[in-house]
Amino acid sequence: MQFEGTTYRPPMEADSMLLQVTVGCAHNRCAFCTMYRDVRFRVIDMEQIERDLIKARQIYPRAERVFLVNGDAFVLPAPRLIDIAGRINHHFPECTTITMYASVQNIQTKTDAQLHELKSCGINDLYIGIESGSEEVIQRLNKGHTVAEAKKELERLNTVGINHMTLLMLGVAGKGRGIESARLTASFVNETRPQMLWAGTLALFEGTELHQAVQRGEFIPQTEYEVLEEEKELLRNIRLNDVPFYGNHPTNLVKVYGILSRDAGRIIQSIDRAIEHHGKEALQTTFSRSSL
Ligand code: SF4
Repeated sequence: MQFEGTTYRPPMEADSMLLQVTVGCAHNRCAFCTMYRDVRFRVIDMEQIERDLIKARQIYPRAERVFLVNGDAFVLPAPRLIDIAGRINHHFPECTTITMYASVQNIQTKTDAQLHELKSCGINDLYIGIESGSEEVIQRLNKGHTVAEAKKELERLNTVGINHMTLLMLGVAGKGRGIESARLTASFVNETRPQMLWAGTLALFEGTELHQAVQRGEFIPQTEYEVLEEEKELLRNIRLNDVPFYGNHPTNLVKVYGILSRDAGRIIQSIDRAIEHHGKEALQTTFSRSSL
């Protein structure tokens, strides 16, 4: 099987079969992201995908879950995704779920009828980088959509029954704004009802717009203490039932996991214990995460 360029997949898809359908990210403009900066976006041709599936069948005795690589594979037009799903289902009839990263803009380009069709051929569990529920914050991050557009598109997924996993980024609001961002983000997720929440912490990579904004003094990063208080405020305000919360990314100072809202209190207590352990004074700084 061929993989071109850097390949990322969510940690939860560690046991899934990976199939590359695009190279890079079609958006590639988020102000914090370096993941695909060195890669030119392109679509993998169908002959290559077919060859990869034939090879994959020789390697994988079973593949119940397939993750389509790369940064925003849901950018592919619905007919192409349906063609790919058909080929996956032909070679791996046991496959129940075809999943991938998606953006709000990717959903906007699909009609309701197409979303229904995508769902019916096994496409589900879309991982969507929302980062924050604050309009001001996501505009600074160049996410390419508004909060209202994100709410509308996630509601369309809910209506069709396509599960969506919300990816959040702590620390993106900047100094003094974490609590406000947490409240807006909690309100966003309460309204859009994702099936899973994942929260990482902002890492400032050289060459990104956000890193340049820091150097110009236009963006002041949150301290570690502020990021942890932001996470606690987020957890305090989320009202969801039976939704896994993964706050265990390597960028997170304190690794937490639980089912919301049931475990919110326990997670907050463990963050408080970590704050006590490190000491508030030691956390009045921003650790470099650029090597992660
Ligand atoms: S959509 Fe995802 S992969 Fe693409 S630039 Fe934004 S964060 Fe990076």
